[in-house]
Amino acid sequence: LERAPLAGRSREELAQFLAGEKAAYDELVAAGLVLDLTRGKPASAQLDLSDRLLSLPTTAVDRDGVDTRNYGGLEGIKELREMFAELLWIEPEQVVAGGNSSLVMMREVLVDLWLHGGVDSERPWSQEESVKFICPVPGYDRHFTLTDWFGIEMVTVPTDENGPDPDAVAELAGHDPSIKGIWIVPTYANPSGSIVTQEVAERLASMSTAAPDFKILWDNAYAFHHLTEEEAKSADILSLASAAGHPHRPVMFASTSKITYAGAGVAFLGGSVETVKWYTGHLGKGAIGPDKLNQLRHVQFFGSADGVRDHMRRHAEIIRPKFDSVLSVLEEQLGGLGIASWTEPTGGYFISLDVQDGTAARVIELAKGAGVALTQAGSSFPYGRDPHDRNIRLAPTFPEPAEVEKATRVVATCARLAAAEQLVG
Ligand code: PMP
Repeated sequence: LERAPLAGRSREELAQFLAGEKAAYDELVAAGLVLDLTRGKPASAQLDLSDRLLSLPTTAVDRDGVDTRNYGGLEGIKELREMFAELLWIEPEQVVAGGNSSLVMMREVLVDLWLHGGVDSERPWSQEESVKFICPVPGYDRHFTLTDWFGIEMVTVPTDENGPDPDAVAELAGHDPSIKGIWIVPTYANPSGSIVTQEVAERLASMSTAAPDFKILWDNAYAFHHLTEEEAKSADILSLASAAGHPHRPVMFASTSKITYAGAGVAFLGGSVETVKWYTGHLGKGAIGPDKLNQLRHVQFFGSADGVRDHMRRHAEIIRPKFDSVLSVLEEQLGGLGIASWTEPTGGYFISLDVQDGTAARVIELAKGAGVALTQAGSSFPYGRDPHDRNIRLAPTFPEPAEVEKATRVVATCARLAAAEQLVG
């Protein structure tokens, strides 16, 4: 494959390139593929790793003598809180073990802030004249749809491999009291794979904010989801915030959705002891206790925090070849052409592909025509608006390896074709 940048080629060379890509694309359409790179779901081989859960727990009474079959224990069983406190580098009393979805916990926290305000609020957020949230982009689409659901206005800040631009965040949060918080996926971010550095975390934890009850919603969904030996350690945001005099600023979330079962895992919330009390206090208005039996079987399944770490290595063995396959096809098909760049994550569930500006929607449409479903254009941006129309989120975990490779070839061909169409005009 010729690797010279497209932008430097003559009109005839471009026309020839375009014709070649059209032919390649038509061949793909004729092949009648049905492939899907849309959502970050674990593959069934990954779910199988946890099938011992299906015969657990072997007893319903936990270490502390709690009969997990009964009501009660809103904050979750102690053993599991201890295990995940160790993994998240916080204290057990700073952790709540809940139901099967951390996203639900995020919604609950926002509902509680909306109706009652946080432990450090002057009034419920619903009584503010306006509420705005900082959204680092590209980011997780469900954070944005959730925020929008409240009518909270979203303000974007750029991200790089170290997380959000701390100057842009401090500037916004420092002057406008209606800016009430920020979404952060600190480790192996969705979709960029970026890791918030200690320095960026310190800035976020210590910056002065115009709103006294500014919240960092620290969604550590991929805290343990390493793809390489180089296991990133998330910054300890709770200690940093506490040391800076803002102990109630961060609310942390995590879950075992991509550790055990996406539909039957356990979700966690972390925060100051006051935040934990605040959360369970509100939770108690509509719940008597979580599914402690599921929590207990997770305790028995993992055995210890190290059990979780070992289990994650088995996931990596399944996932890593799929990521390698995407990366090698992208390099082979798009490298050197000057029409695309992409992330090479060391963990998480996604590869973020930037195609030629102004062509992402076209690439996604072309891929659909060839039977490959990609996440909607703009989905990693608030209101679905990618200002450069260039970002595409690739989620390679769910399909079989051979399908991942085929689907990526289609994406690459579509990116080449769309870029050539644009350059030829
Ligand atoms: N946060 C992020 C950043 C995610 O990517 C996902 C899953 N796509 C979730 C949260 C959902 O987590 P849960 O299954 O615990 O609701």
